[in-house]
Amino acid sequence: MKQLLILPGILFLLAQGTGTARKEPSIEKRPKNIILMVGDGMGLTQITAGLYSNNNTLFLEQFPVTGLIKTHSSRHIVTDSGAGATAFSCGCKTYNGAIGVCKDKKPCPTILEQAEEQGFATGLVSTSSITHATPASFIAHVPDRADMETIATYFLKTDIDLFIGGGMKYFNRRTADQRNLVGELQEKGYVVNDYSEQKLSDLKPSPDKPFAWFSAAEEPEGVNKGRDYLPVAARMAPEFLKKRSEKGFFLMIEGSQIDWASHANNAPNTVREMLDFNAAIGAALQFAEADGETLIVITADHETGGMALEQSRSPDTLDMTFTTKVHTASMVPVFAYGPGAEQFNGVYDNTAIYDKMIALWEFQPKVEKR
Ligand code: MG
Ligand code: ZN
Repeated sequence: MKQLLILPGILFLLAQGTGTARKEPSIEKRPKNIILMVGDGMGLTQITAGLYSNNNTLFLEQFPVTGLIKTHSSRHIVTDSGAGATAFSCGCKTYNGAIGVCKDKKPCPTILEQAEEQGFATGLVSTSSITHATPASFIAHVPDRADMETIATYFLKTDIDLFIGGGMKYFNRRTADQRNLVGELQEKGYVVNDYSEQKLSDLKPSPDKPFAWFSAAEEPEGVNKGRDYLPVAARMAPEFLKKRSEKGFFLMIEGSQIDWASHANNAPNTVREMLDFNAAIGAALQFAEADGETLIVITADHETGGMALEQSRSPDTLDMTFTTKVHTASMVPVFAYGPGAEQFNGVYDNTAIYDKMIALWEFQPKVEKR
């Protein structure tokens, strides 16, 4: 394997951000609602593989603005999902494994918490456990992503209006203490439902009460095993949150398992997960088109697998290969639609996703910059 020549101190420079400051376009119209969609591990090649496996079309083509983000974390050129999501949620470069804490390990107020403070409705949807690094980084503050039971307690510390994902055992079969967080959520007024009782598609949650649906006791299955709730959730959540606050809402939707399929170097499953995420994008887009006040930002925390598309023997088929089992440092794309979308054009750090979202909402930045 060839080694990239890395100049001394480049990691320090990376963390500081050496890019020339760019002037943001003036804001024409501010969004009332923001839907941030994260395809975990969704690099350009995963997107392309999905595209050509789907009759050469994806909903992403309907997004008028595209950008690229630099995904490195504070100490490594290759990020993990904790540092990657904390860049989006808090706007700081942090170390790999961090959840809602900057590199000094101090909790950083997240955009979800800031939105709640301002009276917005908030939601998290994921196809991993809801305590997994990506969703956790928007609601919890722990130095180590493996601490799932502590992460679960943060769902009681905020007033999140809706969450959908797996990992129910971290709430109701805890090893660190005897708390039953499902019961505590219900006492707090939540309607809590789960995979063992009803499918998400059979539920019509009333916006009078906050809502949680657990998709699995542990990690949800892959699309290849029949998991189908992500597009359902992407349709349900914006409609639900819209009715929960006059001010607007913040919703993060994650397609978690693009990453896992690419870690496994499983090309067919990578495509399945990509197209499941595409269906969720279609549902969110349909809401935003009708609503007219919703910004959708779609990006990834990093690429996974060093995926490549090669010509196969037959001229019109693709050979999908991988160069690694782990994450890579490639920049990943950003797609934006709706009021404020123009802000997301260009090449910038992953932390700027947070900066741009809070600038559009006129929230004050809460953490010292890098
Ligand atoms: Mg994730
Ligand atoms: Zn990963």
